[in-house]
Amino acid sequence: MTEREPIGVIGTGYVGLVTAAGFAELGNEVYCVDIDADKIGQLKRGEIPIYEPGLAELVDRNRERLHFSTELAPALEHARLLFVAVGTPPTYSGDADLSAVHAVVDAMPPSDRHALVMKSTVPSGTGVAIKRVFADRGKGGFSYVSCPEFLKEGSAVADFLHPDRVVVGDDGDWAGDAVVDLYAPLDAPLVRTDVASAEMIKLAANAFLATKISFINEIANVCEEVGADVAEVAKGMGLDERIGPQFLRPGIGYGGSCFDGGETVLARRHGRTELLRLDRLWDRLEGEHGQWEPGVVEPENLEVLSWVPGVDAPEFLPVMALTRRDYDGELLEVRTKMGRRIRCTPDHPWVASDGAGGESAIKLADQLTSHDWVPLAMGRREGLLPSEVTSLLGAVEAAEVHPERFIVRFGAERAAEVAARPIEERRRIFARPGPRTGDVKRTGAMRLEEAAAAEVPMRDVRLATARNGNFTPTSLPLDRALWRVVGLYIAEGCASFRHRNGVRLTWSFNLETEQHLVDEVVAFWVRHGIRAHSHRKATAHAVTVESRLLGTWWTKVLGLGRNCSEQRLPDLIWDRPNEDKWALLSGLWEGDGSWSLVNGGPSVILEYGTVSDELADGIHRLLGDLGIVASQRIGRVAKSTKDTYWLRVAGADQIERAIDLVPERDRVGVLASIARQTKRIAPTGYRRFGDGPAWVRVTDVRREGFDGPVYSLEIPAAHTIVTSHGIIAHNCFPKDVSALKQLAGNSGYHFQLLTAVIEVNELQKRRVISKLQKHLGSLVGREIALLGLAFKPDTDDMREASSLVLAGRLQADGARVRAYDPVAEDAARPLMSGVDFSDSALRAVEGADAVVLVTEWPEFAELDWAEVASRMRGDLVIDGRNALRSERVTAAGLAYEGIGRH
Ligand code: NAD
Repeated sequence: MTEREPIGVIGTGYVGLVTAAGFAELGNEVYCVDIDADKIGQLKRGEIPIYEPGLAELVDRNRERLHFSTELAPALEHARLLFVAVGTPPTYSGDADLSAVHAVVDAMPPSDRHALVMKSTVPSGTGVAIKRVFADRGKGGFSYVSCPEFLKEGSAVADFLHPDRVVVGDDGDWAGDAVVDLYAPLDAPLVRTDVASAEMIKLAANAFLATKISFINEIANVCEEVGADVAEVAKGMGLDERIGPQFLRPGIGYGGSCFDGGETVLARRHGRTELLRLDRLWDRLEGEHGQWEPGVVEPENLEVLSWVPGVDAPEFLPVMALTRRDYDGELLEVRTKMGRRIRCTPDHPWVASDGAGGESAIKLADQLTSHDWVPLAMGRREGLLPSEVTSLLGAVEAAEVHPERFIVRFGAERAAEVAARPIEERRRIFARPGPRTGDVKRTGAMRLEEAAAAEVPMRDVRLATARNGNFTPTSLPLDRALWRVVGLYIAEGCASFRHRNGVRLTWSFNLETEQHLVDEVVAFWVRHGIRAHSHRKATAHAVTVESRLLGTWWTKVLGLGRNCSEQRLPDLIWDRPNEDKWALLSGLWEGDGSWSLVNGGPSVILEYGTVSDELADGIHRLLGDLGIVASQRIGRVAKSTKDTYWLRVAGADQIERAIDLVPERDRVGVLASIARQTKRIAPTGYRRFGDGPAWVRVTDVRREGFDGPVYSLEIPAAHTIVTSHGIIAHNCFPKDVSALKQLAGNSGYHFQLLTAVIEVNELQKRRVISKLQKHLGSLVGREIALLGLAFKPDTDDMREASSLVLAGRLQADGARVRAYDPVAEDAARPLMSGVDFSDSALRAVEGADAVVLVTEWPEFAELDWAEVASRMRGDLVIDGRNALRSERVTAAGLAYEGIGRH
């Protein structure tokens, strides 16, 4: 055996250790370096820090040839080739963190006999950048080789010894040859190329594998729709040797960073918005959809409140997947100024900034320090159009009372009309025996099921159960008065479910000081024709309303709690206009909140205390919607077994904006007090820069052991979620997808494959529009000529033709569209209204601002471009198929744009 070359390996993690042991097995002396002294200590003692089948044996067998150190010197002394295998973890949107690589580069001495051999996965262009650094620092003699690693954890030893291929990218000097010689005994296919291509091979391979997964996921969705079995489909596809069976297992292989199940999201489904804990959201979705694969639910129509970094207000965005997995390890509680806390796994990414208005970056929970500031959601983009009234009929079902026990009262006139209907019809309506017609005329009322059979309109009618007879309207206006009463209930109310009389709602007010609130609540119900009683008890002045229907609606449909510990905000409030949110909060504060002077004034604070964590979360979020940042203190009051959440609003500007939370009669005094402040003190605890989120500083990151389920969400459009108390966190990193993101981030190209191939196709169509807009600005009034309409040449098939989408979008943007297709015109006409059809390409381009080649019919390649140019008004040609000879087009004085080509 010829003498084998000694090598150095820098970084003894997964890749480094396998590479080192592998080369030692081939007979090389290997000098390993790592900055992690513990790891080096373990390795020196013969312990293997990671588990990988076969690795321990390999290391053990070659101990003589493996040398471990925390110093670079031995490697530099004995080896020419220094393999770099340090970590390059993805940061936000895929940029690789190259700090470890740069540390290695910086540590290299000037040398003419050494080469860095890059095994770490790095963005394309890294090799060029490193060589430039070497040249600038007088180390130009250093050689550089890119030798990307393709091993898979779990089969890494086998992958090293029997690689599918070895890729060596170099500048054609001694170093490349030396690396090729090193791998020669493995007898693997070799790709010897330049550095940039070698880098790109690794990134493109990662991206392709991720695409394959995305693709089969989309197929899986379609399979569900059509009742096919995706496993069968994948098998059938994989047997095509051009496709191959690997990587066609659907599911995204989640298992990355996660939240504790107690953290919350504002979720919107089927037009309804709810504040939900992640564990409850999971239970509900899992029940409805089943698990897509163990631990993954891909919900339909689920949106959560999210925030696109850089945009002012948060908005609802679709959720691609929700996951749950068992986790046994450390959980971190990230605590911030203003009293917010979130629990997540140490590798959970956060959006963090310097608190001075600088760019935000992504940091893992583990890396957060008290120098980091995290965002709080402020304001809200209005979503659904809120309705003016709400129907109480939904409660009929929820009340679990048989419809025959509901009585509908609709007045003498309509009752007489029903009573006068022909006998056969009355028999059908009044299926129950007895002389019902007389009763109906006398009382102006009948049973709900009779009313349904008689098809009486349910507007302007009143409903009650047979037993308690408190007739309620079938709808209530969603006005400020209602939200005030709801707010007062959350502060002071409870609901009791009684055996005979249905449900009793009670508001309890202070005997001495709250007569006006008693009056307000009674007047509200009386105004809607609902009986309400007020009575003075020993300790409180109570208002009660007894109605099974109303009480059921109140608790089950509107979703209010039955007592103080389960109080929560009603779901409906999330989609209401700001004035309704203020009304609810003013009722809440007036019922149980307070305002006070700080140290006798002039500063004022507003405070609200609750034992319901759900309510505290809701109030923080609702105040956030209104642009107010509250602080929170959590504590126990004497004898209580539950935490109390104290919410506090401070700062002159905030108090002024939240003046609705002060009882009306005190407002003038409060405003006057703030006005006495000699200078406005900047808000403490948080910062705002313009209209965006507020930022609060991280104060502490606590660690605790945890064994239980953890949850993650993926929101592809923003990658963030507004979680508990309005804190905005990054969404989780699903493991396998990060490789794809890495390519995306590195190349500056916005790679949209995450949500699958179909979306990419859609984007492709949109790209033509953006190219047109880039050149023409607004498309209003522009004349756009489409050449070719068919789905592909040599057919008149218009199914799936991108011309349909394109023409529709152009028209929607105000452009006028004319088109020519040698064959497909007849098929296209009925599908494309408003499009002008021409009988030749040259006619179609007459007076056009731009020409778009949509279908690559051969005749278009032969067009006389000088003639085209003379007929057009503008000069833009977009080649949607890359089918034209660009130099011919530009020679005619036209501007040419292809797709992904210059
Ligand atoms: P790893 O985190 O397991 O190991 C990295 C090691 O580098 C650690 O031991 C760390 O202490 C050490 N290190 C960091 N800075 C150092 C420095 N300045 N000097 C010396 N040592 C230093 O990472 P890994 O999984 O082995 O991955 C390494 C590279 O290989 C990454 O770029 C990764 O993307 C790529 N890769 C990994 C795999 C895989 O399956 N793990 C496969 C192919 C490629």
